[in-house]
Amino acid sequence: MKFSLVADTLGYMESTTKRLELTRHLVELFKITPPETIPKVTYLLQGKVRPDYEGVEVGVAEKIAVRALSKSTGIPVSKIEHEYKNAGDFGQATASILEKKMQTTFLKEDITVERVYDTLLKIAELKGSRSQDMKMKYVSSLLNDATPAEGRYIAKIITANLRLGIADYTILDALAIAFTGSKDNRPALEHAYNVCSDLGKVAHVVASGGIAELSHFQVSVRSPVRPMLAERVKSPQEAREKMGVEFAAEYKLDGERVQIHIDKDHVVLYSRSLENITNYYPDIVEKIGKAVKSDRIILEAEAVAINEDTGEFLPFQELMHRRRKYNIAKTVQEYPITVNLFDVMLVDGKSCLDLPYKERRRILEETVREDGFVKVMPMIITKTDEDVEDFLENAINSGCEGLMLKQLDSPYRAGARASNWLKLKREYRNELGDSLDLVVVGAFYGRGRRTGRYGALLLSAYDEDSDSYPTVCKVGTGFTDESLDQFYQILSDKITVKKDPRVSTALEADVWFDPEVVIEIVASEITLSPIHKVALDTIRKGSGLALRFPKFTGRIRFEKTPENATSVKEVATMYYSQKKVVQTDKQF
Ligand code: AMP
Repeated sequence: MKFSLVADTLGYMESTTKRLELTRHLVELFKITPPETIPKVTYLLQGKVRPDYEGVEVGVAEKIAVRALSKSTGIPVSKIEHEYKNAGDFGQATASILEKKMQTTFLKEDITVERVYDTLLKIAELKGSRSQDMKMKYVSSLLNDATPAEGRYIAKIITANLRLGIADYTILDALAIAFTGSKDNRPALEHAYNVCSDLGKVAHVVASGGIAELSHFQVSVRSPVRPMLAERVKSPQEAREKMGVEFAAEYKLDGERVQIHIDKDHVVLYSRSLENITNYYPDIVEKIGKAVKSDRIILEAEAVAINEDTGEFLPFQELMHRRRKYNIAKTVQEYPITVNLFDVMLVDGKSCLDLPYKERRRILEETVREDGFVKVMPMIITKTDEDVEDFLENAINSGCEGLMLKQLDSPYRAGARASNWLKLKREYRNELGDSLDLVVVGAFYGRGRRTGRYGALLLSAYDEDSDSYPTVCKVGTGFTDESLDQFYQILSDKITVKKDPRVSTALEADVWFDPEVVIEIVASEITLSPIHKVALDTIRKGSGLALRFPKFTGRIRFEKTPENATSVKEVATMYYSQKKVVQTDKQF
């Protein structure tokens, strides 16, 4: 398949921000793609070569890409750098340079999707001292045969700058329309995606076997399952209204969620956002097998830092010390943990996802031999509010954030935030109640002591329906000097030339970012706002919702993707549940 077809589609998509149009272009492209090429096209559209959880990244440094372009066109590096400076975008600069070259030479051959994909995959897998030279050669050979339009997107993909703002859900919609004839079949595709987290694989199955083939999709080891999420409640009574009289209450520990895949002697660990985090926890890899009586199993746990002398749980921040590349053995000693298992998704190779909670819990208890390191999450089955209150008190005294309340008959709903799991936190008892996890989309330069760094950040919630990021506040308090430096560093490689098309706001930030970094915020109140766009027009025409007195809690939610941020619906629900707001019959 000619790569020009993909480049043309990317070109159309770049010129629109309307989701329907984006979807239409994708559908047209999928329809003309042969089934065996579908996975490659699906990854390339997102600027990837493999699903995220494999951690295979193309990542060619811009310097190398500039040299490659110079090699394939004969135009000096300095000229290319000048062009790049003028264009402000490496893809655009590559297209202009190739345009100039085209006036003097003939193209040799059409480049295919397969060639582009295979070359990018080779680049991504290169390691070692000579890898930079090899990358340069591979890139220059591709650019040598590329048209300006093709070169533009090859350049953007290799430098990780393809920012079309198409989320997984838009691709799922397009696949449903292209291969099953209707968007209404998206839930079947979404289910498959939630179980395997690999869009390329889902695309391949539906393109070759249609919807029937999707029903055979099974959870399997080394393919992470998208985690089930919880809604928040403020009281045991509210939980009872949602789940019935009897339910399970588990400790909600404040650590890192870890999905543990055991395949005989091989152990792989995934974070909540499905990043491979095996290297950070050599202690789990070493010890988990001994505590589990199945050699093909997927478990879910919260890894928590502990004080070894007292057995007390320590806050989440302690665990972040483990996020290093070197000297892991030392940090394992310095920051000991326990692994607290709370669910099982597969046992002896068989899926447990459709089993009710109480059955999964029984299997978990039967399969795990607890020791000092591996534990099963403390749990009670409760029928009264007093039980819940007592258990909450115990949980908080042991250093937990609160409780997770779980419906006894509910299956594991991969990738869903549903009312079968509810979180009851201690903070829910004050003012606004819960904290919010918001996406950093922009920043304003600081003054005085904050000169040269950001003085305030612009934050958004996530709108699942329109796959967009409406802003909800600007936050400038709660930062320490250390955290300001940290933000400046983390955000420096998220800077974009323009506002991402998915961000909506009436504010003009000094700097815009890719919506990627998620941080935790508390606030005193949610009010109507003419500036911020969350839930725009839903409560009052012309108004959105904004946080009053927002404050950064000091917690960067590294484990959350922007799609896991607090949703627009959740903000609206919080707005309605503030005491002084008269409840309307509006449904969210
Ligand atoms: P939140 O991040 O506030 O939405 O709460 C959900 C997170 O709580 C999960 O992603 C887990 O990391 C964590 N957690 C702690 N204890 C449990 C538990 N018993 N069951 C499920 N999740 C838990």
